[in-house]
Amino acid sequence: MKIARIKTTPLALAFKEPYHWAGRVDHAAAVVLVEVETDDGLVGIGESVAAFPAEGIVAALQGVAPQFLGQPVFDVERLVTGARHLGSFNHTPWHANFVLAGLEMALWDILGKAAGWPVHRLLGGAVRDEVDYFGFVQGDTTDELAEDARDLAAAGYGVIYLKVGRGEAADLRNTAAVRAAIGGRRLRLDPNCAWSVAEAIYMIGKLREHEPEWIEQPTPLTSIAAMRQVKEAVGVPIAADQAVFTPADVYEICRQRAADVIVLSLHEAGGLLAFGKAAAIAEAAGVPVCLHGQGVSGISDAAQHHLGLRTANLSDGNQIMHQLLVEDLVSVPDLTPVKGRIGLLEKPGLGVELDRDALHRAAELYRRGPTPLKEVGP
Ligand SMILES: [Mg+2]
Repeated sequence: MKIARIKTTPLALAFKEPYHWAGRVDHAAAVVLVEVETDDGLVGIGESVAAFPAEGIVAALQGVAPQFLGQPVFDVERLVTGARHLGSFNHTPWHANFVLAGLEMALWDILGKAAGWPVHRLLGGAVRDEVDYFGFVQGDTTDELAEDARDLAAAGYGVIYLKVGRGEAADLRNTAAVRAAIGGRRLRLDPNCAWSVAEAIYMIGKLREHEPEWIEQPTPLTSIAAMRQVKEAVGVPIAADQAVFTPADVYEICRQRAADVIVLSLHEAGGLLAFGKAAAIAEAAGVPVCLHGQGVSGISDAAQHHLGLRTANLSDGNQIMHQLLVEDLVSVPDLTPVKGRIGLLEKPGLGVELDRDALHRAAELYRRGPTPLKEVGP
């Protein structure tokens, strides 16, 4: 069973409503669909995270494709690790991870389909029957955020997650309103690197009265020391997100005791295998990992769900993003959480069937370019 063809398609995934985070607003996310076909006709599906324009990710995938063509699908570790040392990937490991994650995902999908087993079973087997996800509060104004938070709490989400980093007044107002809307449910706040050390200590001091369960990546992604300084100063748990990509990043954060939780996606880690290595390092340090969502479809959310099912030191309140899209690329399975939870995926591979009409529309939206993308939102 050898890799015969690799097809890449850049896609624009429109958000239902403008997506606000750390002072930025997005109307759509860019991804690259990766379809890998074997010489015996099996097709695996993967998705690489991109940004606009996505041609850089497409070119990088096409650049590594010759190293995969003609090779056995089973050799996932050898192929992906080997690809990390090719060309410019050697000195751009984070970029390499985003590129290769979609390709590796497609290989696991093929292997699961060939074996007749879901991916989580090939990766050690499920350690839980369901994965818990947080309610991701959306909105621009304080009233919109509070209303959405109230709906998410009513829907049974045990963990509610709010973006901050939108300025002091807005952060304090929004957090107070969301806390009031959700009662005693757990509340996580994510400023997405928006604060300096001093700002983080100041802001977390102000936000503490709203009892955040943890603050995610308060300081710039490049400094582990900054995060540790904040963690030691504030007495509120800190989660590392953008500061973590590779297993080596996890090691360093755990070694320095710079965070209480690791928030990580398979895209950042560079695939399902690398995510497992990263999670194992955190597990050895007594640190839980939390699935990190990015602007992706249900393809990635399904792949990450398989990881969630098989990762021993997984936190609850994990992140998915496909629910924020106007339409998902996935017709099966239904990835709608029930009381914040999604159960076992039992179909072979990722268990994902694509909605080809939605896929066509996402490809067309991408082709229309950045101007129409701005018109997607209200
Ligand atoms: Mg985050």
